Amino acid sequence: MNSQLRQEYLDALGLTSWTLRGSRTSSVPASTPAIVSTTSSATAPAIASATAPATVPASAAYSRETSAAREEAADWPELRARVAACTRCPLSATRTQTVFGVGNPHADWLIVGEAPGAEEDRKGEPFVGRAGQLLNSMLRAIGLAREQVYIANVLKCRPPGNRDPNPSEAAECLPYLERQIALLKPKIMLAVGRIAAQNLLRTDKTLGALRQQVHQFGLSQVPLVVTYHPAYLLRSPTEKRKAWEDLKFAREVCSRV
Ligand code: SF4
Repeated sequence: MNSQLRQEYLDALGLTSWTLRGSRTSSVPASTPAIVSTTSSATAPAIASATAPATVPASAAYSRETSAAREEAADWPELRARVAACTRCPLSATRTQTVFGVGNPHADWLIVGEAPGAEEDRKGEPFVGRAGQLLNSMLRAIGLAREQVYIANVLKCRPPGNRDPNPSEAAECLPYLERQIALLKPKIMLAVGRIAAQNLLRTDKTLGALRQQVHQFGLSQVPLVVTYHPAYLLRSPTEKRKAWEDLKFAREVCSRV
């Protein structure tokens, strides 16, 4: 992406005073916060937290070992068909359609949100509408087209009234995402929003406490970085600079994988 086009995307983010520094293989920018732990080598990003911290809320506890194997062996078409026919939780009764996910099945980046909203429920695609447009701008600001990444949600069906998904719904649906991750083998996951981050990391920590660290997801230990949901950024534009820092951080992590 040339610098003029990149600047246009930064303008769209309201970040005209920010510029990308360095290439994908450059050292960590000065503005990138220090990574907490030093458990890995000097050339690899250190891991700051594990996937199953001690702060797992009791209400969200479930047998990850059992659920992770549920969709084993399903290929992309089979998995998509299983999701489309799923009635494992009450959200099947209120959805217009399931929202499986979209993007490059060989993508390095997996973007994970919370659940479909009203527009996603109508169109069958995650992150459409204004929040989707902002996500696209955020990705383009770090040199990624929407078509280059894979985008999915923790839940494949819309919770009525856009309420937060409850723990049992998330537990029933998460094996589908886990199988998508197994098929995709991403280099990095970007969890957008508190609900997605808390469900993926099985924690009740705040989003602020989870940002700017390299987490790991699942048995394959996929590096996972947390940032704000674009719908939140539309409501709170002053937080866009923090999201920009998160994106640069994630880009740096990905470049070192
Ligand atoms: S939210 Fe997930 S588990 Fe619940 S019905 Fe939809 S696809 Fe099935």
